[in-house]
Amino acid sequence: DTYGIAEAIEKLGIENKNAGSSTGKNWIASGGEVIESFSPADGMLIASVESATAATYEQVIKKAEEAFKSWRLVPAPQRGEIIRQIGDELRKNKEHLGKLVSYEMGKSLQEGYGEVQEMIDICDFAVGLSRQLYGLSMHSERPGHRMYEQWHPMGIVGIISAFNFPVAVWSWNTMLAWVCGDVCVWKPSEKTPITAVACQKIAAKVFERNNLPEGISGLVIGDYKIGELLSNDTRVPLVSATGSTRMGKKVSEAVGKRLGRSLLELGGNNAIIVSQHANLDVAIIAAVFGAVGTAGQRCTTTRRLIVHDSIFDEMKARLTKAYSQLKIGNPLSEKNHVGPLIDKLAVENYLNAIKEVEKEGGKTIVAGGVLSGAGYESGCYVKPAIFEVENTFKIVQHETFAPILYLIKYSGDVADAIALQNGVPQGLSSAILTDNLLEAEQFLSQAGSDCGIANVNIGTSGAEIGGAFGGEKETGGGRESGSDAWKAYMRRQTNTINYSAKLPLAQGIKFDL
Ligand code: NAD
Repeated sequence: DTYGIAEAIEKLGIENKNAGSSTGKNWIASGGEVIESFSPADGMLIASVESATAATYEQVIKKAEEAFKSWRLVPAPQRGEIIRQIGDELRKNKEHLGKLVSYEMGKSLQEGYGEVQEMIDICDFAVGLSRQLYGLSMHSERPGHRMYEQWHPMGIVGIISAFNFPVAVWSWNTMLAWVCGDVCVWKPSEKTPITAVACQKIAAKVFERNNLPEGISGLVIGDYKIGELLSNDTRVPLVSATGSTRMGKKVSEAVGKRLGRSLLELGGNNAIIVSQHANLDVAIIAAVFGAVGTAGQRCTTTRRLIVHDSIFDEMKARLTKAYSQLKIGNPLSEKNHVGPLIDKLAVENYLNAIKEVEKEGGKTIVAGGVLSGAGYESGCYVKPAIFEVENTFKIVQHETFAPILYLIKYSGDVADAIALQNGVPQGLSSAILTDNLLEAEQFLSQAGSDCGIANVNIGTSGAEIGGAFGGEKETGGGRESGSDAWKAYMRRQTNTINYSAKLPLAQGIKFDL
């Protein structure tokens, strides 16, 4: 156990068999088929866990409904104090949880630690927020009246999350929802159930220690069928779902049918524009980290590089050189830059995308391929690839969740580059690299990038928790994390109070008896 995985698993309280099987004690629904979680790093079984059934799902929802009745009455700053304690537990467990994230998901150890740090950051943000759930006050048009708005908790928030940020997305949602007075039921990705069990145990410990009911945090493990239970459940007023656009359309339809609310964080097709005024040293690092980090499995991964024709050949040459220096291997070893894809199905999708791009006439700049031999036994390691393409290729319009970078040439001015950047169905993250102020401002203007995230002189990949995170078009329109994203987790109520002895009507309407 070179990397201390066994120790991490033990310290996080994961039992090697049926890690989540004791309903009640660990606050995890069980009873369904056993999911075995294998590491894409070395192909080994990490642990197995029982998934939820319709019956145990029902128990979790009942517990959540019950818990909501008391949790909503706890003053928000006191709820914040509980989140502060969860943040402390995460700090204590950062190394073990970060390692487990890296091992179960396959991202580099640095990124595993980074993901846990992001959880700690959102806890801190939520603690502050717990004293800032502000509503506005308005001036009533009627004499002797006062008008204001307040924000109330909604109830059960269902959280459906993706494999690539197996724990951070849960915390983005739960920490805000909890300070807002909601209770949460989490359906993690069936590809990363063990890290979910670890998080649930950390939160459960804090709630238990504070004599708070277990229903505040429920975990229902399983595949899309368990997700569907949440989307169709009228007792769940808000479903926050992170994953593919295909999934988002299904969740949105099911939640919409019952006029519930959904918060959707779906696929991206992110581009960096590299103008002739860019600092190419910065551009290379931004592009390479953005394209190959997390083996191209971030929603904000750089998938397209839109490069001015005057510097196109230079960028191509420098990218090729940088790619030749990439070390691919076990993500737990800090000498490697690129880890594995999540599973063999992802490898198949990667290979199919390469076939497609070649069929459509893409020119290979750096060839892809699956790695085999010592260290690559899991069969999930692939070579990051680069193709020169047209933006209109079908495959380029589609998000392939793998390290494939598309190079696209533009000539003319920045408006042409912006048109290419916007010319895809997705709208998550975007960036321009330029030292020219006019170009940067055009990119950020109302006629510029149509994405939820638009950066200047940094890449597309990754985000700080302080800003609202999410995107437009097929990315789903939802916003999570910082700024005023908390409002999605509450219901707004407008209150008018009459402190006069008369009853004047609005708009001056007369009604005399
Ligand atoms: P996925 O869509 O396959 O699965 C995501 C989650 O949805 C899983 O928990 C899955 O079980 C569940 N699910 C699938 N079908 C469902 C249905 N019909 N009803 C209810 N639940 C259902 O996605 P994935 O492969 O785990 O993750 C990769 C995708 O997630 C990429 O498209 C990526 O861009 C996206 N993503 C987006 C963001 C963002 O914030 N915008 C963040 C991370 C990942």
